[in-house]
Amino acid sequence: MSQTELLYLPEPDKAYEKEFTARVIEASKNHVTLDRTLFYPTGGGQPHDVGTLETDETIRITSVRNQKGAPRHEVDGTPPSQGATVTGRIDWDRRHALMRMHTAQHILSAIAYETFGATTKGNQIHTDYSRVDFDVDTFTEEQLETLQAEANTVIDDDIHIEGYEEDRDKLKERIDVERTLLHLIPDHIKRLRVVEIPDVDICPCAGTHVKRTGEIGELTIQRTRSKGKGRTRIVYDLQTP
Ligand SMILES: [Zn+2]
Repeated sequence: MSQTELLYLPEPDKAYEKEFTARVIEASKNHVTLDRTLFYPTGGGQPHDVGTLETDETIRITSVRNQKGAPRHEVDGTPPSQGATVTGRIDWDRRHALMRMHTAQHILSAIAYETFGATTKGNQIHTDYSRVDFDVDTFTEEQLETLQAEANTVIDDDIHIEGYEEDRDKLKERIDVERTLLHLIPDHIKRLRVVEIPDVDICPCAGTHVKRTGEIGELTIQRTRSKGKGRTRIVYDLQTP
């Protein structure tokens, strides 16, 4: 169990908070661990947040990584000492871009599975473009057009997204295990964080997502690339809505 309270969960509203106060529970030469944080640590294809921590002076957080279940904030400068109270601020423009990209990935993965039976094998989110890898040899032009058009229909429909916790066993009974890669989540995790885009997708995920699909912006599939037999990569970008 994490010793740090993750303030960006549960969604949807919590993922929109930008500032918080916390106490330093551990500090070394170049990193701090906090009792609570809004900084998302790299994981699940979503990159970490950046931002600042303020005490008497303001220092930059350049990277955040999970270390034994607790986000470790890499600092650029002298870290605040153990026990200090800090005000943290995340770089919201970066985070919001990642939230839009990440939510778009759920939509692409859901439609590709539903329409073509293509299972997602990996993904990497960036602020300006992102990619999803599927377990197929190729997609035809027509399939790509369908995928892009259906994703944009979901985006245009401005669907309200839900985030909640659910027992693994209960979730397993009502979702598609292939689509969600539930079997890849370690067995000992019995309680899962679920992201649901009603009528589109239900997926366990601990990343950050937007509240409404309309916030994502128009999606364009830029290109595809073969990553060997049975693996095709789709690269996409988004317009600012
Ligand atoms: Zn997600």
